[in-house]
Amino acid sequence: MPDFSIYHTKDQVFEEVENLVKANAQIMKLDVLAISDEVSDPPYRSSLKVVTVEPGGHTRDHDKKMRLLLNYGEHGRELITVEVALRLLQILADPSAELERGDRPGGPGKARLKALLHNTVFKIVPMENEKGRDLVEGGNLCERKNGRGVDTNRNWEVHWGHKEKDYDPNEEYPGTKPFSEPEAAALLALARKFKPHVWMNAHSGMEALFMPYDHLPHIPTGEVAQATLQVLEKLNNVTCGGRCALGSGGKSVGYLAHGTATDYMYERLKVPLSFTWEIYGDNDAHFNDCFRMFNPVSLEAFDKVVTSWADGIFALLELLPSHPAIPRTNTQPHSGGRKVEPGATRSSREGVSDGGNASPDRRLGAAVQGWQNRMSEAARLRVFDAPGSRKGLIGGLCVALVAIVGFVVLVRGGGRAAAAKRAARRKREEAVL
Ligand SMILES: [Zn+2]
Repeated sequence: MPDFSIYHTKDQVFEEVENLVKANAQIMKLDVLAISDEVSDPPYRSSLKVVTVEPGGHTRDHDKKMRLLLNYGEHGRELITVEVALRLLQILADPSAELERGDRPGGPGKARLKALLHNTVFKIVPMENEKGRDLVEGGNLCERKNGRGVDTNRNWEVHWGHKEKDYDPNEEYPGTKPFSEPEAAALLALARKFKPHVWMNAHSGMEALFMPYDHLPHIPTGEVAQATLQVLEKLNNVTCGGRCALGSGGKSVGYLAHGTATDYMYERLKVPLSFTWEIYGDNDAHFNDCFRMFNPVSLEAFDKVVTSWADGIFALLELLPSHPAIPRTNTQPHSGGRKVEPGATRSSREGVSDGGNASPDRRLGAAVQGWQNRMSEAARLRVFDAPGSRKGLIGGLCVALVAIVGFVVLVRGGGRAAAAKRAARRKREEAVL
């Protein structure tokens, strides 16, 4: 069983969520949505709990803010993702330490980070798959599907039901039709109403920062997708220690996935920054040891993962104003000095409302401008710790050398024993998204 001296049980998770919301009612709100399929026999019933967080205080509509929809706990066995959601809520309840970190070298500065936070609204689903989680806590540590055997991350309408040659219904049964599952249908309704700029779906099983497509082996073309890839590259350095696989889920994970939420959010709801973050994986775990495969087992590793990926949301926030699909009205209106690349598609992309009538906030705009410059500088510093100097050059050469050696090892490592091991692990590893 999971070590519940480290991990929260489902009940403890929601007790903590309720306490946080109660204690911070001026910025947090909890919606408990009853979701069900009454037509099925027996009826299938669950709930979807959504925490709305507005660090700047509740507003009636969210048109003028950056909107992030963050989903955790979609797969029951990936308990660690739920812990990240909890940590994120704790930080948002009291962001003072996080704001101090804004003053780190290369950081945005405390005041600027605060301004950015105040211009954001989060919708956080700490545990999408409550019924699947019940099964896991009941002892089925390998269960990823919902309470009636459907992988909700295959239940969305983009390329729904398409099956690869090695399709395994035990891992990724997509349901009887798109949105047959109350969990997916409820998230769809939520996203339609909220119109997020960012969708982030947290998973575990490997370390990766994915963007569309999951059902095609490449990322979308165009400026917006390229900018999104750049965001992921920076996050990889800041949040993932440079270890994360990057790019299209369908290419990077080694198989195509059909009917995923991330593809739907991007393609149908036009959510410009649509992500699947894979936050942890243990390649040395036995393929039957699902808990260890998907979740850190030591307190030290647990803390590291939870802290990194909760902070990752703030790192993302810092990068958003420079993304061409984030309407300027939502971040830095009329900064005056900000350069916009020729042909940059700002303001309202199709389907994503920017409100269109946000009042200018010059101070915030100027603040974000200066901060952005520092961020891009910081991003460079993280790659080559002394840019332009010999040290930077040597650092770059070392990275290249390690990459070449790594590649050679990878190519030569295809021995028979390794191949057998890989085959045994494959089914489970394939189903991380
Ligand atoms: Zn998953």
